[in-house]
Amino acid sequence: MSSGKIGVATGNLFPIIKKFLYSDHEIFLRELVSNAVDASQKLKVLASNGEFKGELGELKVRVKADKAAGTLTVSDNGIGMTAEEVDKYINQIAFSGAEEFLEKYKDNGAAIIGHFGLGFYSAFMVSDRVEIVTKSYREGAKAVRWTCDGNPEYTLEETEKAERGTDIILHVNEEEKDFLEDTKVSELLTKYCKFLPIPVVFGKKKEWKDGEYKETAEDNVINDLNPAWTRKPADLKEEDYTKFYHELYPMAQDPLFHIHLNVDYPFTLTGILYFPKIDNKFEIQKNKIQLYCNQVYVTDSVEGIVPEYLTLLHGVIDSPDIPLNVSRSYLQSDRNVKKISNHITKKVADSLTDIFKNQREEYEKKWDDLKIFIQYGMLTDEKFAERANSIFLLKNTEGKYFTYEEYQNLIKAEQTDKDNKLVFLYATDVHEQYTYIEAAKKRGYDVLLMDGQLDTHFINHLEQKTPDHRFVRVDSDVIEKLIPKTDAKAVDWSHEEQEELRTVFSSQVPKEGMYMVSFEALGETAEPVIVTRSEFMRRMKDMAALNPGMSFYGAMGDQYTLVVNTEHKLVKGVLADEKAEMTAKIEPINAEMKEVEKKKAELDELNKGKKDEEIPQVDKDRKADYDKQLGELRKQKETLLDEYGKGNKIVGQLIDLALLANGLLKGEALDKFVKRSVELIK
Ligand code: ADP
Repeated sequence: MSSGKIGVATGNLFPIIKKFLYSDHEIFLRELVSNAVDASQKLKVLASNGEFKGELGELKVRVKADKAAGTLTVSDNGIGMTAEEVDKYINQIAFSGAEEFLEKYKDNGAAIIGHFGLGFYSAFMVSDRVEIVTKSYREGAKAVRWTCDGNPEYTLEETEKAERGTDIILHVNEEEKDFLEDTKVSELLTKYCKFLPIPVVFGKKKEWKDGEYKETAEDNVINDLNPAWTRKPADLKEEDYTKFYHELYPMAQDPLFHIHLNVDYPFTLTGILYFPKIDNKFEIQKNKIQLYCNQVYVTDSVEGIVPEYLTLLHGVIDSPDIPLNVSRSYLQSDRNVKKISNHITKKVADSLTDIFKNQREEYEKKWDDLKIFIQYGMLTDEKFAERANSIFLLKNTEGKYFTYEEYQNLIKAEQTDKDNKLVFLYATDVHEQYTYIEAAKKRGYDVLLMDGQLDTHFINHLEQKTPDHRFVRVDSDVIEKLIPKTDAKAVDWSHEEQEELRTVFSSQVPKEGMYMVSFEALGETAEPVIVTRSEFMRRMKDMAALNPGMSFYGAMGDQYTLVVNTEHKLVKGVLADEKAEMTAKIEPINAEMKEVEKKKAELDELNKGKKDEEIPQVDKDRKADYDKQLGELRKQKETLLDEYGKGNKIVGQLIDLALLANGLLKGEALDKFVKRSVELIK
């Protein structure tokens, strides 16, 4: 028997392991099982090149938890180690600057472990004592037992062992007893070892027999040795991909599409990415892409490795070329990672293009679900945007799909405005905006449906890319002005007439929201009154809903314009009636106002060209007095017109009809409208 000190360059490694890597302590099992798998694979290689001539037998890794003894054992029948090898590989942790290194990467413990020859030592995170009982594959090799209790002192002695291979025996410490529970071990094996290439056995298979859940004689193998991503795409059917998807995410719905990644130059990368079918936002984050390194699970946080928008996808990526021993920010600047990320982007775009070209119908059927990924990609990744430009679809309110180019050709003739801009009309809700959609269709226009989470952003994106394309929501203006073909016809009402009728109509607009009254000559056959919502304000509000930084817009009330058609018979009637009723009352006020304005103008003329301090105080006072008088007179006039307006049933009816068409007439206002309608019919 020999004993000695483990050769750590900078003193005692154990406290460091325990302290810094504590949060990741469950990965010890992954490390031990993958060492065992490696030892088995190595033996396979030696057998295939003739260096090992003995019986390979069935190579298996066995994990056993013995609660009574307090041990967890990982066994393999791989290459094993001689005493010299134990000394070399286990005792001499020639790890220069270990402490410094660990300090630097203390937040990334999982990465340090597997990649700096610390894998085996992670066993000390959960153990008081660790034993290695091992026998090399070499002919005549003697079995050895190595023991260490967490101090740098170890013992190494000869022992008896019948079979070739290695047992790693952990005497699990009191606080970590959890790792002796079957369910816990099972959970960890499933998480980290599910796709390892050598069978990993944990206990026996159980089955229902005679009303009992009983152990059978068959080994319980927890892993799938040939996961789909390691196989050739040509050997896989659609069902195999779906089946594998459910192996990864048992609760998820069938995915929309898959993409098989398979690169071996200039880096090695395999994997399968799936476009998931998602019903709500929450689910997007739940099933993450899993990152493997030679079939060993590493992590499910792939930020920095795949482009941000692709983190929404599901599936696996397996690459030994992704450096795991570095921080995330470093990862993003790593050349290999950049290449990998670009490759994935290209591959995703190519696959989608392929499906689009060869299975257009299928593609259209899945578009509604696919849309969010593609839009997100186009919004956040310039390169992807270029590639996806010819395969993103626009859907119209009739449920037809078009590429951007196809759609431009469709609307070019009817929807080009007087400034030669192409106007894309869209709706966000087919029911709410029904009247507007119908009016647009009647004019020969087409209306898109833009009801997705990212559509507002996407519209901005398209407009920025193509400045002579304009998106206009179908209810943002009167139909005549949505796509202006010629300059608008002038309103033939005088300024006074417009001012008076503005007060009359304003008297009956709803209290909720802000309404501006404007006058347009829209022709006799157009609606008498129309409500529109400013495209700009509405978009700002939509963006505010997604962007906390813009809450200013979100807090503002809804803004509407009440467009009064001066050419409609009923509106003309309102003007005539207002004149007949009000002229006698308003004329004297107007006359008085004119008088005051005249005096004010004379005063202004007198002091023309003078600086403020040169104007006598009396004149300033007089001017202020005129302004006050004018204000009062205006008020008087407005009060009269307001009273008149409130009593005008036609005005109320016209406004309410316009509101009704927009779903804006509710509650008491709706009730009043119904009662008034009945009255008017009588
Ligand atoms: P790494 O696996 O990263 O090299 P480890 O500390 O996990 O670092 O292991 C150190 C070395 O010990 C391995 O490279 C291997 O040579 C040897 N070793 C560990 N476990 C086994 C095993 N089960 N069978 C044979 N050799 C092993």
